[in-house]
Amino acid sequence: MTLTIVQVGAPVLRSPARPLTKEEIRSQEIQLLIEQMRETMHGAPGVGLAAPQVGVPIQLVVIEDPAQLQARFTEQQLAERERQPIPFHVLINPQIQLLSDCTIDFFEGCLSIAGYTAITPRYTAVRVHALNERAEELALTASGWYARIVQHEVDHLNGTLYIDRCNLHTFSTYENKEQFWDK
Ligand code: ZN
Repeated sequence: MTLTIVQVGAPVLRSPARPLTKEEIRSQEIQLLIEQMRETMHGAPGVGLAAPQVGVPIQLVVIEDPAQLQARFTEQQLAERERQPIPFHVLINPQIQLLSDCTIDFFEGCLSIAGYTAITPRYTAVRVHALNERAEELALTASGWYARIVQHEVDHLNGTLYIDRCNLHTFSTYENKEQFWDK
């Protein structure tokens, strides 16, 4: 079953999400939510989804950047973005630490701001501490496009959207971005 993706303007997208206990993570309710968020992300399709985007104010995100979503980009585009396939995984109660002072600009979109995109700076590398879907502690380093996805999704848990960080003069529909910016 796929869930409805909440659109911008809904208060749940602008409120801090609460952390989960290890007991809650192992509950049937959260395990089902993870499965439904995974299906919803696949259906959209998207490369990440945060629980507030399906109306649930908890600190849980799912991420996956499968090869088939990258097929429409050229080798050069993928190389510029440092974009590589990322397998499905879950981050719960994530804490981000910046590993770089450098930011890089690319167009970014959000399933909760459907149809629009804008150039958004993101740090090039981050370290993440979180719990996984089995409530086990994990630490990972993300760089390139993956670092962008992680920062975007963790922002959702703090009520922050890419439109708070983007260059607003570049805010476009996807159609106009293709027509006027991709040349
Ligand atoms: Zn988003």
